[in-house]
Amino acid sequence: MTRYIFITGGVVSSLGKGLASAVLGSLLQLRGYKVRLRKLDPYLNVDPGTMSPTQHGEVFVTDDGAETDLDLGHYERFTGVTTKKTDNVTTGRIYSDVLARERKGDYLGATIQVIPHVTDAIKEFVRNDITDEDFVLCEIGGTVGDIESLPFLEAIRQLRNELGSDGSCIVHVTLLPYIHAAGELKTKPTQHSVKELQSVGLQPDILLCRTEQPVPIEQRNKIGQFCNVDGDDVIIAEDASSIYYVPLAYNEQGFDKQICRHFKLDDTKPDLNRWISIANDYENPEGEITIAIVGKYTSLQDSYKSLGEAITHGGIANKLRVKVEWIDSELFETDNDDILAHYLADISGLLVPGGFGKRGSEGKINAIRFARQRHVPFLGICFGMQMAVLESARTLANLPNANSSEFGDGGELLVGLMTEWISANSVEQRTDFDDMGGTMRLGAYQCLIKEESLAHKIYESDKISERHRHRYEVNINYEKILAEAGLYISGLSPDGRLPEIVERKDHPFFIAVQFHPELKSKPFQPHPLFTQFTSAAGKHSRLV
Ligand code: GLN
Repeated sequence: MTRYIFITGGVVSSLGKGLASAVLGSLLQLRGYKVRLRKLDPYLNVDPGTMSPTQHGEVFVTDDGAETDLDLGHYERFTGVTTKKTDNVTTGRIYSDVLARERKGDYLGATIQVIPHVTDAIKEFVRNDITDEDFVLCEIGGTVGDIESLPFLEAIRQLRNELGSDGSCIVHVTLLPYIHAAGELKTKPTQHSVKELQSVGLQPDILLCRTEQPVPIEQRNKIGQFCNVDGDDVIIAEDASSIYYVPLAYNEQGFDKQICRHFKLDDTKPDLNRWISIANDYENPEGEITIAIVGKYTSLQDSYKSLGEAITHGGIANKLRVKVEWIDSELFETDNDDILAHYLADISGLLVPGGFGKRGSEGKINAIRFARQRHVPFLGICFGMQMAVLESARTLANLPNANSSEFGDGGELLVGLMTEWISANSVEQRTDFDDMGGTMRLGAYQCLIKEESLAHKIYESDKISERHRHRYEVNINYEKILAEAGLYISGLSPDGRLPEIVERKDHPFFIAVQFHPELKSKPFQPHPLFTQFTSAAGKHSRLV
């Protein structure tokens, strides 16, 4: 039997609902249950792919090529369950599907309405593509009370009636603000937000109360009394020293225990060793390294969520704390190397991440040149690889006009728009005039790795699969010219046409990849590229 847990949020956004869902998923999994996590997003974009990362944070790409909300990254990192296209939906997607069906005549004769047509489509999404999962955890984006979330809450109300309380549970995440002037924790916002939920016909079963301060038992019982839940079902979620400690803290507070009690399941003990050892390694490093991330979206760290996590995982694997310096690449749009040296001379490693557009690209090229010349460990990702290619071509291959067609048509186009490539079961074609949304090379693709390369040493394999999200590609016809400049293509698409990995042999650690390895790293399974990059950074800073 599949049980559904709906996770809603109240009072304010940014309470860590995504993390709480991921953590609960992990705790249930460690009790031996099979879980699946999904997210319902109330905004009108069909997917987050066209949104600026500085507004909405990173776009998380799934193996099957969906551009999804960054919370799916938390889900994968905490449970290891590979997310799919069917795990994230937006109001925009629901409406566009309903309208497409209307045009086809599927509802012939009916007046299309939010209830039942939109709510039915939401319910269909929630229950679709489930096989033998014991639990489906379904997070609802936004905050209760938002106009946009109403159809989702109504769909859940209906689902509750269909599934019954034995088949479903509502977890409401709220905030207990601490008023410093009064020295008091306030429960009123939580009461109001539960009222808001009740006004749309939903009674929470469990409250997860985020707080900066410990909460006395009387206060906990008072919240329960006002909000119609048992005192034991008020889970106190105090700020934790690290996200890796959260599974231990939530378990200690009885979160997973109360969920099992709700569903009348035996209170088996979860095996928490995984999180004990990760939290321990994270909190007791043997040294510290500094990685500079030179990118364009440095104003919001959520823009590079998975990247920040993956570097931390690499650090944990090497018992190193990683301090990240987020540097706006536009600072490096200069001929003055003193400026580069000011920021980069003492770093342990340089990472140039994915990105889009010309702005800031020259700064990235300059930073890569600096790392190459000074033998600073370098990892380039997607756009970072394209810029590494332009740097070697311009500085070492005597192609000063080396360019990408992403920046206009001028120059020697070593990086160009992909017009055709082979995906899992078809040939994909694109032109300059395609829609922007959903048309990149997306999802998992295989890459063949050459023997005796750094990439081969890192992956210990000659065939890998990694996730992609890009429109432009390094032109394979320049392979020889690049090799003469010391930049080797060590990974290629199976048809040999698309360069996937480049590296330098005249450097202690210089590697760049066309895909996004950060999307597959997990704290209990750090990605080898990040493990080796942080290890090289540790060596550069003479720590390992
Ligand atoms: N803008 C580049 C492209 O579309 C790189 C994209 C990325 O870094 N994800 O190819």
